[in-house]
Parts: sequence; structure tokens; C-alpha cells
Amino acid sequence: MAPDIDQFKALLKQKNLKATPQRVAVHRAMLALGHASADMVVDYMAAQTDAKITVASVYNILSMLSDQGLYSRRMSSNSKMYFDVNSCKHIHIYDTTSNGYKDLMDDEFISMVESYVKKHKPRGYKVDSIDIQLVCRPSGRGKKSTRQ
Ligand SMILES: [Zn+2]
Repeated sequence: MAPDIDQFKALLKQKNLKATPQRVAVHRAMLALGHASADMVVDYMAAQTDAKITVASVYNILSMLSDQGLYSRRMSSNSKMYFDVNSCKHIHIYDTTSNGYKDLMDDEFISMVESYVKKHKPRGYKVDSIDIQLVCRPSGRGKKSTRQ
């Protein structure tokens, strides 16, 4: 689960980072957006407040938070750098019609793949992480068990 604002401030403090108004505002936008590029965060913030912040500043904050392990990075199929407010293990559903991500929390799926990869290591490589992404388009039916 993504940290709420208070948890986010506590995490920054743990890492000796200041909870500046800009960082908190970026996190607030990321909580609402889930997965977003710097441009999307700027657009969201511009729609919510009068505060002016440049794409470059937002990008720097998002990158710093990813380097610190609070967020994770994803390169989307339309070649945009997306940031993910969730850094825990989860599966992604990539919607090719909207170029958007949804999280799929399925520990059973992940542990199945992890144990398979443990037994069938690719020759000549050490596996650092496993990234599962289902490339999908909406079926028009219900969307249980997914979360933005
Ligand atoms: Zn995600």
C-alpha cells in the first residue's frame, strides 16, 4: 500500500530528508494518480492548486523519491517514464487503449513466478528482480481486484 501523507513525512524524516511543501504536494498528487509521468503530476497539481511548479522540479522530486525506494519507475510502452507510488511487489495491468497502469495485488501469482524462476535460472544471468506486466485492453466487463 502507498504511504499516506503522515507516513510519507515519517519516511522522509527517516531518510534525513525534509518534508518540503513541494515534496508533500507531489506525493498528494501521486496518491491520487497512482502511476504518473512528471507531466501528469504537474497537470494534476495545476488543476488542484495555484502553486506553480515546473516539470523539471517535479521530475527531480519523483526521481529522488524513486532513488530512495519510496517510489518505483516504469517505462511505459509509449516511451514515457512513469513513477509508481507503490514500491511493494505487485503486478501491473497495462491498458494499451489509455497507456495507463493498474495494480494487481496477487501474491500467489508472484510467488508462483518467483519459485519458477528460482528453479529455471536463465543461463549466464543473475535475476535482480521480476517485473510482471499484463498487456491488456478493457473487456467491458467488471473490474474487481484491480486498483488504480
Ligand atoms: Zn503499480
